[in-house]
Amino acid sequence: MPYLIFGVLYIAGYLGAGVLLSAHPIARMVVANTLLFALASGVAVVVLRRRHEWEGTHRLFWDAFAAGMAMWCIGQIGFTISAVTDHRNWVQWHTMFSLGGGIGPTVALLAMPHLGPRKSSAWAVGVDLISYAMLVGFIYAYFIMVPSVLPAGAGSPQRTLLTLVQVQRLLLFAGLGLSAWFARNTAWRATLAWLAAGAGVGYVLRLITSAAISSNRYTEGSLYDLAWIVPFLCYLWAAQEAPATSDESNRFPPRRGWRDAALSSAPVFLIPAIGFGLLKVQPLGDPGDSFRLLLTVLAMIAGLGLLTLRLSAQSGELQRADARLRLLAAATEQTADLILISRADGRFEHANDACIQALGYTREELARMSMADLLEPGFGGMIKDVASEVREKGAWRGTLLHRRKDGSKFPVSSTVVALRGPDEGIAHFVGVQRDITEELKLRDQLVHSERLSAIGELVAGVAHEINNPLQTIIGSVELMIEDQAPDGPPNSLELVRQEAWRAGQIVRNLLAFVRRSSPHRLEADLNQIARAAAQLREHQLALRNVVLTLDLQSGALPVLVNREEIQQVVLNLVLNAEHAMDESHGAITIRTRSLAGVHALQVVDSGPGISAELRGRIFEPFFTTKDVGKGTGLGLSIALGIVTAHGGALELCDADKGACFQLTLPAHTVVTPPEPETHSTPSEPAAAAGHGRR
Ligand code: ADP
Repeated sequence: MPYLIFGVLYIAGYLGAGVLLSAHPIARMVVANTLLFALASGVAVVVLRRRHEWEGTHRLFWDAFAAGMAMWCIGQIGFTISAVTDHRNWVQWHTMFSLGGGIGPTVALLAMPHLGPRKSSAWAVGVDLISYAMLVGFIYAYFIMVPSVLPAGAGSPQRTLLTLVQVQRLLLFAGLGLSAWFARNTAWRATLAWLAAGAGVGYVLRLITSAAISSNRYTEGSLYDLAWIVPFLCYLWAAQEAPATSDESNRFPPRRGWRDAALSSAPVFLIPAIGFGLLKVQPLGDPGDSFRLLLTVLAMIAGLGLLTLRLSAQSGELQRADARLRLLAAATEQTADLILISRADGRFEHANDACIQALGYTREELARMSMADLLEPGFGGMIKDVASEVREKGAWRGTLLHRRKDGSKFPVSSTVVALRGPDEGIAHFVGVQRDITEELKLRDQLVHSERLSAIGELVAGVAHEINNPLQTIIGSVELMIEDQAPDGPPNSLELVRQEAWRAGQIVRNLLAFVRRSSPHRLEADLNQIARAAAQLREHQLALRNVVLTLDLQSGALPVLVNREEIQQVVLNLVLNAEHAMDESHGAITIRTRSLAGVHALQVVDSGPGISAELRGRIFEPFFTTKDVGKGTGLGLSIALGIVTAHGGALELCDADKGACFQLTLPAHTVVTPPEPETHSTPSEPAAAAGHGRR
């Protein structure tokens, strides 16, 4: 709307000035030409102001456009000066500027801005524009300037000029119209449509104006000047509203091929064809033909120079593109993600190294396969849905199940995107996939450990409840034993007492294991901890025919620890050893030793041991070789955390056969009276164990 108001006001002012000054033809011409000059230079100023918003061929287009307007302005100044000083001849030096200015927007169109900024090829396209500008200059000089300097009668430059102007305007209109059509799906549609509309109206109005000029009815400052005003107003609007270059507009690849080559070299072929051809077809005689010959040769030399420049610009561009390509290819090959690129027809174009390794096929084999061959049968049917979603939304994300060459499967988290060609159709599908086998395993383990901790809570509650009735049973049985005659026959009550005590001990150990630990450290005997842990497993181990040996250093091994936590560590080592053991037999030894300043506890088993490649990983959280549901991979990592917090160490030690874990804790040096053992009564079942018990 503001543009419309401005346009109407401008035209009203322009025509008003023409009417006011109708009695002063020279003043009217100067004012009218100045107003037209202001409008045309306004377009160039808007372009200059917005120039930083455009890049690549976008900027080239507007540069050429503004250069055309600037040339037209120079021609306008020249025309005004010569009209004031000399009325005789229309065709003078400034005519070249006016004409050149008129063709500027047409040449600018060769930058094809609607195809995206194509930054990398902007230099080569720039040289193309200069070549075409030179061709146009050559044509004008050949047809207008040379005849105009000849003696009258040798040619009719004014008529040729009017015809050329008309042809030029038609060309501009057609070019802009076509570009607007090609750009109908891009952000440049409105801009090119406005430019085309201005050029179209300008063409029709210029027909009327030219007729008026031919019949001497034309005066400056009149309605005839709308032939310039209307297009310039449209150009002004278009330059002001043209879209700035955005990343989105950069997705079109540079165009290559024979059309590009033909477009670039056309001026070099056209110049001699026109130059020498017309010398024969339409000779002007001397000196006109000598001028034309000279002009043709000079233009040819310049044209060849430009072509060479174009080639070197293009080879530089190719080198840059090549380097970039190599960089991207290296990045693609280095990534651990699986990258698969397929053509629109489903055939594979490229698979990166990670993909080749993961799938087990060679690139040659892949080239003969389709996506369906790489997926588990149930997933093959999804391909159509994936492709249609990618077409509609541009991308698809989801999980697929791949099948390797050896038949094994692995799940992948996959992202598929479409790469479109210049014609907007999908040229390639790019799939980036991540193997999520480990991730899923980890998730299962987390669920499992959550479940374990819930069971822990439950066990704590149950153990607590069982402990109380057990104490009652033990108390009552002891009273019953006391009531018996001391010399009476051995009674099964003693057996009941022993077993109840054993059950109580198991419950207490269980409680110690699941109870939340406190940061308080108390003095404890490492030997006792070893015994308590052994007691918890001895029954199970006996059932499985596993010999549990306690090889304890004599005397107490005092350490300052959270007893429950250290017991949990030992129990864990015993459990791991137990799991590693053959079903039917085996041996586990818990050994304690006092070394320099530290007390050590070793759990040695006769299992398969730990292979060299696993040694570095077993302490990692969630690392397990056990089946899902059996191992959490947390045991050793928690144990290591506990021991480290106590200032000790947990490590693998050398063993001839099987595995050997060694726990070391700083020896507690403060001498305290030995803690009375809670289960050291002769009737205590654990006391019967000791070395080599089963
Ligand atoms: P989990 O027992 O839940 O797998 P751990 O952290 O306790 O988790 O153990 C990690 C892994 O270390 C086990 O899966 C196993 O492969 C290995 N491992 C631990 N102890 C032994 C052992 N005594 N003999 C053989 N392998 C063992």
